Amino acid sequence: MTPKPICVGGEWRRGGGDVYASRYPADDSVNAELAAANVADVEEAIEAADAARRRPDWSGLKPHERAGVLYRISSLIRERAEELAQLQRRDNGKPISETRALVASAAGTFQFFAAACETLEETITPARGDYLSMSVHEPMGVIAAITPWNSPIASEAQKLAPALAAGNAVIVKPAEVTPLAALELGRICEQAGVPKGVVSVLPGKGSVIGDAIVKHPLVKKVSFTGGTMTGRALAQLAAKKLMPVTLELGGKSPTIVFEDADLDHAVHGVLFGIFSSSGESCIAGSRLFVHESIRTPFLERLVAKANALRVGDPEDPRTQMGPLITAKHRESIENYVQLGLDEGGRLLAGGERPRGDLFDRGWFYKPTVLTGLANDARICQEEIFGPVLVASPFRDEAALLEQANDSVFGLAAGIWTRDYKRAWRVARALEVGTVWINTYKQLSISTPFSGIKDSGVGIEKGRLGILQYKHQKSVYLGLNEAPLPWAD
Ligand code: NAD
Repeated sequence: MTPKPICVGGEWRRGGGDVYASRYPADDSVNAELAAANVADVEEAIEAADAARRRPDWSGLKPHERAGVLYRISSLIRERAEELAQLQRRDNGKPISETRALVASAAGTFQFFAAACETLEETITPARGDYLSMSVHEPMGVIAAITPWNSPIASEAQKLAPALAAGNAVIVKPAEVTPLAALELGRICEQAGVPKGVVSVLPGKGSVIGDAIVKHPLVKKVSFTGGTMTGRALAQLAAKKLMPVTLELGGKSPTIVFEDADLDHAVHGVLFGIFSSSGESCIAGSRLFVHESIRTPFLERLVAKANALRVGDPEDPRTQMGPLITAKHRESIENYVQLGLDEGGRLLAGGERPRGDLFDRGWFYKPTVLTGLANDARICQEEIFGPVLVASPFRDEAALLEQANDSVFGLAAGIWTRDYKRAWRVARALEVGTVWINTYKQLSISTPFSGIKDSGVGIEKGRLGILQYKHQKSVYLGLNEAPLPWAD
């Protein structure tokens, strides 16, 4: 197999690093071989990006012209939607229904930021002297977009679209195991008219090329989505350069079911919240708090439905849960479940691999529900990033809030109740970036997304998300008829 080319400063060529394979998690077959980028490629790509972003064919574009390029990217993604969805299914094993939605979301993201680009206004501020004072925004320069493996094309679009809309050049560093969608996005950018060198796509190991990208003096901002440990290490490197970062990190999100909830909706919402994407989702609702008065009937219904979820072939549009990303990741999830049992937990569902021809070839794991654990058990506190739900009862609102907020993470939460006053009160008291009330995992590019505590720093999405990739500048235009008085 000839290694697939990568994009270094606009040149499509073999990377200088080791050859490795992208594999299909459903049966471990090889999707493609590629040679990773090496540190010399990083150097070349960043220098090319810095030169390209200064050239008039990018820096000289009027906002509506740059928006035109982004609209074309959006259209090209839509034209190739099925191909991209299939590619991503093979790259990370998500069910096709999900990868189709991710591709649609990526196209929508480029469309949204194209509109943000051509409608973004700069302001004239109230003057306190004989001048016109303005607040304007400039591109930052070269941006590093570092992404995880769980929702590749959507994560990459979420960084690439606003960073390009803001007039920057971008080095995309996809997760090592899921490089294919990012490479195609690189091709699409080129086809849509993004000048050569403005976008590079560098697959490879985070500890080698990710590190080299972050440390490079010409990189002026890192937008990172991934694990908290990695994010913290990047922030330390960024601090040395005094470089801003946006960090979208891990989560351990509580979902709360009050006794007056519509139980049918709540059961479906809790299941979707934890088991969609096989639980490999930063916003997975992995901690369930259910009011003790409804605990038994609620858990019975939840467990019956969890056992009936369609785990299987990602190519089948009816499949709800595909395989996990790698054998190693499945082992880590199995170790967590064992730890939960060792800590005194009781299994209500799953806790094992499904068996059978298809299942024996890939990295499948059953939807798993555990109960009987104290809130400080490791399995209730650490991010598992898999299809494992820990269910705990609660009695009153104050104790519930204490437990729900007793977490290093602060990404998201769900509330199920018919009492709107309680919903509002609890939503405001939860220490998280996003709260869903009587729904879960609904996301819109027009609504800002952020994490607090160990879940992150900074905001993505939203119309003003574009400003995360610009720096503010103040300009005073003198209107004095006479010289400044001090000179007299
Ligand atoms: P990870 O931190 O291992 O890797 C993320 C990216 O960082 C990859 O591209 C990786 O190669 C790169 N990287 C690793 N070490 C690096 C280094 N030293 N320097 C520079 N880059 C480096 O995360 P993962 O396992 O790919 O993804 C899972 C994590 O992502 C989970 O914790 C999940 O919660 C989080 N996540 C968060 C969000 C969010 O929006 N908050 C969304 C999706 C995933």
